[in-house]
Amino acid sequence: MTAPIADHRPVELSVVCPMANEQDMLQIFFETVRPLIESCSDSWEIVVVNDGSTDQTLAQLIEVRETMPELRIVDLSRNFGKEAALTAGLAHAQGEAVIMIDADLQDPPELIPEMVACWREGYDVVTHVRSNRDSDSVLKRTSANAFYTLINKISDTDITPNAGDYRLLTRAALEAFLSLEERTRFNKGLFEWLGFREKQLYRARADRAQGQTKWNYRKLYGFAIDGITSFSSVPLKMWSWLGFLLALGAFIYGMVIITRTLVFGVDQPGYASLMTVILFFNGITLIGIGIMGEYLARIFIETKRRPLYIVRKVYE
Ligand code: UDP
Ligand code: MG
Repeated sequence: MTAPIADHRPVELSVVCPMANEQDMLQIFFETVRPLIESCSDSWEIVVVNDGSTDQTLAQLIEVRETMPELRIVDLSRNFGKEAALTAGLAHAQGEAVIMIDADLQDPPELIPEMVACWREGYDVVTHVRSNRDSDSVLKRTSANAFYTLINKISDTDITPNAGDYRLLTRAALEAFLSLEERTRFNKGLFEWLGFREKQLYRARADRAQGQTKWNYRKLYGFAIDGITSFSSVPLKMWSWLGFLLALGAFIYGMVIITRTLVFGVDQPGYASLMTVILFFNGITLIGIGIMGEYLARIFIETKRRPLYIVRKVYE
């Protein structure tokens, strides 16, 4: 599925960053992150995945590489989305420990030395958890909370609310992550599923410094559905229960009608109640079919077994 994992690992620490149209962030990113990595280790690399940028991101990365040979660039053939780009970066990272970070510096970079310190203490996974969502709109915050409550109710894997992809993984955790074969990748669930000794660091998340977020509500909705369908089959199974309850209700209602007809004779046909019942049951049926469709579509994607991403070129 993924690129071969290098057998010899000359570096101690890798930082992996996916970038899609980040030309405005690039300089600040390297200026901020590089000294922090250098302060932790003298054997390091930065792996940047260019996720189909249409701006000057790649050209600028190649320029940066001239003065920073520790930078490796994995150029994808088109935009594959952050989850896939991150996986490509992990597959190319050679470090004993790998930190994944966003290009926009929303993930507090000053946490890098702390993460490395936790790793040296013996943790396998170090996760940044957002301690507040003040920078988000009320709607985004409410929907995020609702999502985490729901998914934790219906899935067996505990998903830490407000933990993102800003994590450190040891080589063992990273290889376990890369060995997961599914194509629909809900990373934050997958990381938790892996287990390992985890340390969580609580810290606020900043606003994006430059450029624009690539997320909108439609994408977030799709992401939430991916998360739920990857980690729970409750939505699929609840229909048999709901169907049973509704059938029971319909049976009782039927008995009432029969008794009433026997006792009081034939009554005027009730158009309104008939229409309500038909519309209600049709609605319920369509929702059930729709949810099956969500799972079926994902099964379809999985059966195609396409690679998660295609690499155009690696600069190293
Ligand atoms: N990103 C990517 N491919 C995409 C979208 C985003 O590689 O299709 C990268 C982006 O360049 C950034 C990180 O993923 O480094 C997070 O993106 P963004 O800031 O847009 O997400 P948010 O912080 O709003 O969740
Ligand atoms: Mg961001």
